[in-house]
Amino acid sequence: MYKITVIPGDGIGEEVTQSVIQMVDSLNLPIEWEIVSAGLNTYNNTGELLPESALNSIETNKIVLKGPITTPIGYGFKSINVTLRTKYNLYANIRPVKNLGVIDSKYKNIDLVIFRENTEDLYAGIEEKISDNECHSLKIITKSATLKIAHEAFKYAQSMNKTKVTVVTKANIMKLTDGLFLNTVREVALDYPNIELEELLIDNMCMQLVLNPSRYQIILTSNLYGDILSDLCAGLIGGLGLVPSANIGKDIALFEAVHGSALDIAGANKANPTALALSAAMMLDYIGENLAAKKLKNALNEVLCYEDNFTYDLGGNLSTSDFTQKVIETIQTL
Ligand code: NAD
Repeated sequence: MYKITVIPGDGIGEEVTQSVIQMVDSLNLPIEWEIVSAGLNTYNNTGELLPESALNSIETNKIVLKGPITTPIGYGFKSINVTLRTKYNLYANIRPVKNLGVIDSKYKNIDLVIFRENTEDLYAGIEEKISDNECHSLKIITKSATLKIAHEAFKYAQSMNKTKVTVVTKANIMKLTDGLFLNTVREVALDYPNIELEELLIDNMCMQLVLNPSRYQIILTSNLYGDILSDLCAGLIGGLGLVPSANIGKDIALFEAVHGSALDIAGANKANPTALALSAAMMLDYIGENLAAKKLKNALNEVLCYEDNFTYDLGGNLSTSDFTQKVIETIQTL
């Protein structure tokens, strides 16, 4: 029996987590879900953002399926996502981006994976107010964290028979911090002689991705660039409703969609649960339920082969709950 912690989160979180729990339940696996609350709604109801009960559940079960959590923009508390990633040292944020079904996108043949360092960089959130007119933020890059994410990317490349890893920095300007990231990756690359290391600056990478994304297999980068490139790549395949992610640490792994709480459509039964469902498939692969993971991915892909099954974000009319039923029906046929 697997016991998995679920944090529904804010905005569309409740809708998409319910949908994905139903999809995974239809795979008939021995999974027990432990639903705990955290985030802005929890704060508004209880005065706590990240209650002890949520932390205890994560530490006991060690596998987490998480919905998005709203973070106030430009003021207020530190992101709960960042807190969880640093508290549990979830150093690798892995984000596969691939065309799905017949979803209209600028390019076909996109099949890349972003490996984003997940615990430091400007995301450390170490900021200082010098005066009303001047604020500073500290960019932190360490060799130890870079080694971990770089090995993760190269090991993945090797296991998936990929031939190239593209490291993305701005080491021409941030010679010390991004320079350390780049030099550490160069060092790691020597351990994997069969895999080519390509080096690009972040500005050039943005242009190359918009011009010719199918050139890329694995993108290895630091926290902030990885965050921005993920949304860019999501746009290339049809939007944020489609891109999953895994946050992997030594003991704990947390799976969530790349998108946020989408407050503009929350509660409207319009959200696309595909990104979280694909995150659940990554979770099933992680716990060794590879066949079930494959079934879920195949069912999603098949459902998305018909425009009638598209949710609002893809230009369709199908509700979250009807989309969920389509996926469950398709799983039964596989
Ligand atoms: P967002 O991802 O919530 O939404 C951006 C746009 O994409 C919106 O128009 C939204 O409707 C659409 N969208 C996103 N996911 C969708 C889905 N599954 N189905 C259909 N449409 C979808 O980004 P934002 O508006 O910049 O952020 C909103 C909040 O979410 C912020 O507080 C932010 O901090 C938070 N956030 C949380 C996470 C997380 O918990 N991991 C990630 C990103 C943003």
